[in-house]
Amino acid sequence: NFYHQAQYTLSAHNLSQLPSDTGREVAFAGRSNAGKSSAINAITQQKALARTSKTPGRTQQIMFFQLDEKRRLVDLPGYGYAKVSITIKQHWQNTLERYLQTRGSLNGLILLMDIRHPLTDFDKNMLLWCQHSAMPVHILLTKADKLSFGAAKSSLLQVKNQLSAFKTDSTDISVQLFSAHKATGVDEARAVLDLWLAV
Ligand code: GDP
Repeated sequence: NFYHQAQYTLSAHNLSQLPSDTGREVAFAGRSNAGKSSAINAITQQKALARTSKTPGRTQQIMFFQLDEKRRLVDLPGYGYAKVSITIKQHWQNTLERYLQTRGSLNGLILLMDIRHPLTDFDKNMLLWCQHSAMPVHILLTKADKLSFGAAKSSLLQVKNQLSAFKTDSTDISVQLFSAHKATGVDEARAVLDLWLAV
């Protein structure tokens, strides 16, 4: 795999700072504390590529990681962090929405959900947007190690069932179990990235 080549490129605080919209990229989104940084680090086999932080929502920026000349991974700001002001929240909601709607090189969205709290209202909004814009989405149910194998499987099934409400002929939605701590599901996640990043 070439994910371990990922290199930090830049952080954008607004849309004018994005790298040029060419090639292919895949974005990671999810509620703050869902385990997004840990997942990006596990997938790229790098300990501190996306900073894992105990202060969720501290970094409100879109971070870009270059894989090669044509391909990028993108770390979107975690949503749902309660302690930032309404103004900042609205700024980020707008920025995120415009990024998702206008970014031509964006080929898919990895949506992370803590397996113990899947499908929050934020997650559902994100899924509706993906449905609306025919953006393929792959869900990682993170921290699967927090549940027994049986409980994790049953949660996976439940989420799968609920996802049928968001599926249309033109939307591709899939879901898997993931644990950054146990490195469970890393290959499965990379296989999806491989497809979306194929040039
Ligand atoms: P982010 O805010 O979405 O980037 O989440 P982080 O990656 O910073 O993780 C938030 C918290 O969840 C941290 O305390 C992590 O150690 C913990 N965490 C992340 N992934 C896992 C996992 O696979 N298993 C367990 N048990 N904890 C995890």
